Amino acid sequence: MSAPASAALAAGVLARYGDELYHCASCNYCVDQVWPERGIARVCATFEHHAPSPAYSGRGYIEIARALAEGMELDLDTVAVRVNTCTDCGNCEVTCPIGLHPAAINRGLRTALYEAGAAPAAIATAVETITTRGNVRAAPAVIAERATGTGPRMRLYVGCHADEDGTALLGWLAAGGVEVSLVRDARACCGAALAELGAGRSATAWRDDARAAVDAGTVVLGYECLRHLQDGDAAGPQGLLGWLVAALDGGELTLALRRGVVPSPLHLLESCQLKPRPGRAAPAEEACARNLLERLGVPLANTGFPNRFRLCCGAGGGMPAVQPEAAARMAAARADAAGAVAAVTLDPRCARHFADAGRAVGSFAAWLVEHCELTATTGERA
Ligand code: SF4
Ligand code: SF4
Repeated sequence: MSAPASAALAAGVLARYGDELYHCASCNYCVDQVWPERGIARVCATFEHHAPSPAYSGRGYIEIARALAEGMELDLDTVAVRVNTCTDCGNCEVTCPIGLHPAAINRGLRTALYEAGAAPAAIATAVETITTRGNVRAAPAVIAERATGTGPRMRLYVGCHADEDGTALLGWLAAGGVEVSLVRDARACCGAALAELGAGRSATAWRDDARAAVDAGTVVLGYECLRHLQDGDAAGPQGLLGWLVAALDGGELTLALRRGVVPSPLHLLESCQLKPRPGRAAPAEEACARNLLERLGVPLANTGFPNRFRLCCGAGGGMPAVQPEAAARMAAARADAAGAVAAVTLDPRCARHFADAGRAVGSFAAWLVEHCELTATTGERA
């Protein structure tokens, strides 16, 4: 690609983050910072588990964007692989001491490359799978249409990353007296997965289609889906745990450990999707998870939860498609950090990634279904 074309490639990134490309202090905080008092034990999963080179870090991605913006002729095949070797976890942004947005800049580059037809083959294949099958998994899930009950109502959007949780939750909620109606085709992608892969135009179109069916209060299971559908709209859909805590607070439901379940310590793994991002407040799902464990008398093993700086498990961004071995190493390291304590992750997509990597880290929703009993307190619906 010619120098002018390279500059055009970065035009969208320049328009939004142009100033930032020249403000990086090269401090390397986003590369390999360690600060025990703040819970920072390294920062970038890509740098740690793929290649120990600053080129694979927030700082490196800013430098790539600047080089492209200045018209430097880079090998775009190399650039395309590099910008897609990122989990989009956002750690570089929460650690940057001057508030730069390397993850967002890299997302912009990824989208520009995809739209220019310069994405790696693995990304193009993943996008094609989603767009031709309607969801991120080639094998569609089978989910019952509806669960009936006489207690509170829930409108549920499952999405393509959480169909196993969705199936389990439907039975659990129905047994507890909740009436659940599914929104849209429960297997349908909302476009979040397309956005992460850089297919920006399709991601926006699919999101708009999904948002037409999702109203304020709809429960969305996957957190990348929730963020994609909220897109800065505070009155948009909500997470499962927020819905559950509100129903418990409102006296519509009770929640208790099943008979015989011993309240053993549980290690909760954070979801990168629940970090605050530029222009986006994080849903309060982590606080709700803590609240639920307190109600149940289950000790939280990782008392520093939520640690905003935890390294990603490798489920995000283009990592599983472009660098599956590095993505598996990330999952192993994240699971091992829990030690011998039982661990669950808040995000159903991460749970699936752990399973793919052979690690026994299920989802928090699945843990609730297995260990807890839900009961509607009255047959009178509000
Ligand atoms: S988003 Fe995460 S994986 Fe990507 S560069 Fe930043 S810290 Fe590294
Ligand atoms: S992006 Fe921020 S944290 Fe990273 S090297 Fe530049 S100034 Fe430092």
